[in-house]
Amino acid sequence: MSIEVVNITKSYKSFTALKNVNLHIPEGELVALLGPSGSGKTTLLRLIAGLEQPQEGRILFHGEDNTNRDVRERQVGFVFQHYALFRHMNIFDNIAFGLSVRSRKTRPSKEEISEKVHSLLKLVQLEGLAHRYPSQLSGGQRQRVALARALAVEPKFLLLDEPFGALDTKVRQELRRWLRHLHGKLGLTILFVTHDQEEAMELADQVVVMNEGRVEQVGSPEEIYHHPANPFVYSFLGRVNLFHGRIQNGKIKLGEAEFETDWKDKAVEAPAVGYMRPHDVEISVRPPEAKSARSVQAEINHISLLGPIVRLDLKRLDTEEVFEAEMSRQRFMELNVEEQSIVYVTLHNVSIYVDS
Ligand code: ADP
Ligand code: MG
Repeated sequence: MSIEVVNITKSYKSFTALKNVNLHIPEGELVALLGPSGSGKTTLLRLIAGLEQPQEGRILFHGEDNTNRDVRERQVGFVFQHYALFRHMNIFDNIAFGLSVRSRKTRPSKEEISEKVHSLLKLVQLEGLAHRYPSQLSGGQRQRVALARALAVEPKFLLLDEPFGALDTKVRQELRRWLRHLHGKLGLTILFVTHDQEEAMELADQVVVMNEGRVEQVGSPEEIYHHPANPFVYSFLGRVNLFHGRIQNGKIKLGEAEFETDWKDKAVEAPAVGYMRPHDVEISVRPPEAKSARSVQAEINHISLLGPIVRLDLKRLDTEEVFEAEMSRQRFMELNVEEQSIVYVTLHNVSIYVDS
């Protein structure tokens, strides 16, 4: 089941939580909605589920308009971060709930419900725990029960709002892998909300980056990491160095470093900002052999040993801008540098955005 969000605007009184959002989620994909807190992720999910109505725009499921359809008729499964299971019901009854409250006509028989619940328990790897109560389970187990409960009604797709957000790192990693596996097995369309870029990158076929109620970029994890559409996406996806400079004579100057551009109009002069990742900063103790226009000198302010990687805090001698470099421990040992050493720095993979 594909989901189409067309020109959606959602306001609460004078505050606009979603501004003209467009989105296409192809059938069978696992899509992550990624953005900082308050960017409108939950609002978008609630609109798709039918828990809220937009002021403008439409929501289509497989081409069919569902904008004003009741939440109960949409056949979506959802799991929220703090999805309270029914505390007074055991796991079996929790999972069976959605089926057992159906009207007589559509309700499966007791035997059918039992069979369904047991196959779901198997799917979420909680066989044998049917008679426990939620308080007797770990956080990770509870979220798997919540998923089984959402799946019990055979939804057309799953909406997950930071389902692992409240769990510790190790359990989260396990659940991510498990969700990926489950998705492969069921082939269900899944829309997954997270504010954790690593989680989005690891899990998703497509990532939708949101900020302040807008969609900033949609793409595969590779695309958004290596070709971020704008400075927001760039900065949100990992550690970043910023260098300030200008476009001049068809070239970009960031301090003494110079970059060719495909800027046609040589007369244009404008402020520009170069973004680069710390792992793309190349450090050497001797000047680069072929004198490179992309090299500058810098002083090492601080060295942080972070297990397998080493991070250097540096200061450029030309512009006095501070920045970070990351490298393997092995590379760091080869360099044989210490704090206050002066080194040569070559800037690779700089993304230039012009201030406008
Ligand atoms: P996210 O899930 O990305 O953290 P939300 O969708 O929950 O963001 O919220 C987006 C913005 O809309 C926030 O600024 C939030 O305060 C506001 N908002 C959400 N729901 C309501 C509401 N019912 N009434 C007023 N403002 C709301
Ligand atoms: Mg939220």
